Amino acid sequence: MSAVAQRNLIEIRWHARAGQGAKTAANILAQAALREGKYAQSFPEFGPERRGAPMQAFNRLSDEPFYMHSGITEPDIVIVVDPRLMETIPVTDGLKPNGWVIVNTHFSPEEAQVRWELKPFKVATVDASAIARETLKQDIPNVPLLGAFAKVTGLVSLETLQSDTVHRLEKRFRDRPQVIEANLKALERGFNEVSWVDAQVFEPILAEPSQIAFKSWTELQEGGIIPEPSTSLLYRTGSWRLERPVFDPQKCVQCLMCWLVCPDSAIVLESGKVVGIDYDHCKGCGLCSLQCPPKAKALTMVLEAEFDKK
Ligand code: SF4
Ligand code: SF4
Repeated sequence: MSAVAQRNLIEIRWHARAGQGAKTAANILAQAALREGKYAQSFPEFGPERRGAPMQAFNRLSDEPFYMHSGITEPDIVIVVDPRLMETIPVTDGLKPNGWVIVNTHFSPEEAQVRWELKPFKVATVDASAIARETLKQDIPNVPLLGAFAKVTGLVSLETLQSDTVHRLEKRFRDRPQVIEANLKALERGFNEVSWVDAQVFEPILAEPSQIAFKSWTELQEGGIIPEPSTSLLYRTGSWRLERPVFDPQKCVQCLMCWLVCPDSAIVLESGKVVGIDYDHCKGCGLCSLQCPPKAKALTMVLEAEFDKK
């Protein structure tokens, strides 16, 4: 049974070295959550781009849509793929009180708490490197850690992770089924071998949802500068469009999410309110429609061919 109570938005931060598979693991986790009907995100953040350099990967999982795209600074769960990182990187920075740290180590959760001063947090440990060496024949601990995550949190099931693993590997290793078998074994062992301090089982992960202070656009720092404006007069990117967003002002709640995400500044504002679309420069990417809250649904993508007929 899992140890983490269900909550609306769970934020997860992976700490690893490039090449240990944290980006892939975060990706698989998001895919599995999507398959189980959740909303999910995964993305990595690399420093110096070389194998062995410290990197982070992030996941957000929720039962409801969310609109954040920033890096995660106040996670609910931290997964430490390489425990040696804890000697140089403050991996628990911003971790919520009551948050979880899942560590790849042969130490018990109690020993890990003392060794890395993790006392304020809940700690789960699994020797993912040993499992990976025994099953995959190389030290790539991401797969057993995913199994451990499923057991500790219950946020995704082992079965979904297993079917996603098969789906991901079957094309590449069609003639080497033993590789797929080894990955499934690594997942299952991570699930079965993770341990945490018994007294902490079933405590809710946290009481309060995170509070995020959003700046208004006038408070944001100035971004890129265009030294020679007016090229947009020459390049009418609207001619690239296959679909166009159709705006319904009656349904619009003026949240301005469409304006925020449009890469071509093609959402037309008047007195701070959305009034329409600049079709000369809208290239039909559909981002505005995706971000428009489902309850409003004020932007609908329609095939350009439909307009040609009229
Ligand atoms: S479809 Fe893309 S380019 Fe056009 S308005 Fe929407 S976000 Fe902007
Ligand atoms: S995202 Fe939708 S509801 Fe929000 S301002 Fe744009 S059109 Fe209106």
